[in-house]
Amino acid sequence: MDKNERQEGQGQEKQQKSAIDRLNQGINLARDAKSTYEISKRVAKKLKRTKMASRGLSFASKEAQLAIRGAQLAIKGAAATVEIWGPIALIVGFIVLVIIIIIIIFTGVSAPPTCRGLTANPTTISNSIPAILTLENCSENVTYSWDLPQIGGTFSAPQGTTTSYTPPKVNSDQKIYIFVNVCSSSNQDNCSQYSTPQLTISKEDLFSCNGYCALGNRCESPDVAGQGTCPSEGQQRTCCRTNPGPGPTKCETNPTDCLKKELNILVGGNTTEEKRSDVYRLLSEVAAASRYKTLLKASGPTTLEFINDPTKGGGCPARVKPIGGGRSLLILYNYDLNGCYRTTRKSRLAHETGHIIRNGHMRLFQQFESQGYYPKDKSCYKIDNRFSPRYFINTYNTSFGASQGVSISGSNETLAEFIALSVIPSGGYPSRCTSGYNWVKKNIFDNYVF
Ligand SMILES: [Zn+2]
Repeated sequence: MDKNERQEGQGQEKQQKSAIDRLNQGINLARDAKSTYEISKRVAKKLKRTKMASRGLSFASKEAQLAIRGAQLAIKGAAATVEIWGPIALIVGFIVLVIIIIIIIFTGVSAPPTCRGLTANPTTISNSIPAILTLENCSENVTYSWDLPQIGGTFSAPQGTTTSYTPPKVNSDQKIYIFVNVCSSSNQDNCSQYSTPQLTISKEDLFSCNGYCALGNRCESPDVAGQGTCPSEGQQRTCCRTNPGPGPTKCETNPTDCLKKELNILVGGNTTEEKRSDVYRLLSEVAAASRYKTLLKASGPTTLEFINDPTKGGGCPARVKPIGGGRSLLILYNYDLNGCYRTTRKSRLAHETGHIIRNGHMRLFQQFESQGYYPKDKSCYKIDNRFSPRYFINTYNTSFGASQGVSISGSNETLAEFIALSVIPSGGYPSRCTSGYNWVKKNIFDNYVF
């Protein structure tokens, strides 16, 4: 490394760069000289050793030698740079490493706090049923900050060990997680995050409608619009209330009385007048068909019970149990005017009265089995080998029947479905099953058209 180079470079990097540049320059110079020499050689050969050629050749050769010497000098310079600065860089690197280790030891980077798992109770919640969230037994003193899910809501103690979370009212069930950040009290940057198990916000308690929720923006005649709101579930629904005016069979007194007098149904247990009234009203609409009404009354007295049993689920499930002497017990589970559509309730009741009529009129039922039931309308039936008889009208959900833990029969369920579908047709049924439909129309409904 010569004096000039040292003056040029102010830092190690610059000097190394300068040395490398010189090296590259030398190499390029050598390459140029070599190619000049080659060209000259070829020209000289062509000129067949004239004086000029020989002079040109010696010039090229001299230039090449000069360039090679320059390159050698540059390589030497670069090597010298590495010789000196290499060990210096190594020493500086080592010092920096020692400094970093000292900083780590003195500032104290410790493990984030750990706590015992986050608990949430209950896991199915609603605006009126908050979840109690607790995170305890942390490895050190910590501060808490509970994180609201995207859906919003409120915490009773956003910075507490225990807090209650109240979700907003929702239109449909929502699955959420809630997070809590716990940070070391001595170092707010040293934190851990915990998550609750999945919580479900139920749409329960969303609305209060003083009647039922009708599909669409019109109440079914003769009912009238009521007050309150209904869940939308993607479809427009209207809150409706029963028109106390003349209906298919007007109840002059109270629904319990009317159910007994008009339909021979005795209401047992405690339930609201509104629910009894609803059952009476829906059945009296079906009982506008006089033969059906006569058959239903003659099958009684039928006992009606309302039972709340969460294990039976929503959608107003129902069942009929024969109780001897051709009589039946009708159980309506979780009968909720807002929990299922009016048409669902009406269809369900019509279906169940089919079983009541069957229990009370076994000879009529046997006629159905021989004249209206499979195999005449083969295409409208499905087979479920778990049961006997095993042919069910396609609209019947055999899995649901089986889940109820009762033995079901294809002919019994099919008759009940024909009765329900005659009142509220669906998907082209029951008319897709000509034999069964015509039999039920004539023998149950006496050709009454709904
Ligand atoms: Zn049934």
